[in-house]
Amino acid sequence: METYEDLKFLNYIGWAGVLSLLGFTDEEINECEKADEEATKAALECEKYYFENLPNVKNAITEFKKGFPDEWKNERRVEFLKQRSEEYEQKLAEAQKSYATQFKNDSPYWIRQMSQEKIIRIVNHLKSLKSELRYRQSGKGNGITPDMIIRAKEYPLENLVEANHQKALCPFHDDKNPSMWIKKNFYYCFSCAANGDVIDFVMRRDKLSFQEAVKKLS
Ligand SMILES: [Zn+2]
Repeated sequence: METYEDLKFLNYIGWAGVLSLLGFTDEEINECEKADEEATKAALECEKYYFENLPNVKNAITEFKKGFPDEWKNERRVEFLKQRSEEYEQKLAEAQKSYATQFKNDSPYWIRQMSQEKIIRIVNHLKSLKSELRYRQSGKGNGITPDMIIRAKEYPLENLVEANHQKALCPFHDDKNPSMWIKKNFYYCFSCAANGDVIDFVMRRDKLSFQEAVKKLS
């Protein structure tokens, strides 16, 4: 099952149809369907258990954390955020590679659309990891406050680039057709993969540090 036609066909006849085409008897197909139903029921039970117990687990973690100094906790959190960011960078690189392959092979539009959405999801997650990381690492006495960071983040990206229907010419590569998407004050270039929030944008375009970009935007 690889091509679009295959998938359409599968959708039309369903799994039971496929099994019967492959020579399975009605009885065997019934067995499969029963097993599938049971697996679904078990999965729902697990989910229910998970959500019922989640608050208890969260409370226990909060209590446990109270026993450690703030600075130590902050360091652990920074370590975690760095590690997660790296993982997501990797995921992003893989997603970009598969998108490029699909683009080259002229895959069906809806497949490429799914890849684009996946890229945007990864990028958004990466954005929140990185902004928390920056916030935790920014420390005191560098001339910027959390309020300034919030204000800077809210500065409209549309004021810095000329966007038409959320698309703009990318300033980070020689762009002829707008390949930079702008959404929720965040940019992603489908050609050169430049991406980030409005602070990243100014840092990169004007070659500024994080602190300088925040000061400029807030
Ligand atoms: Zn670009």
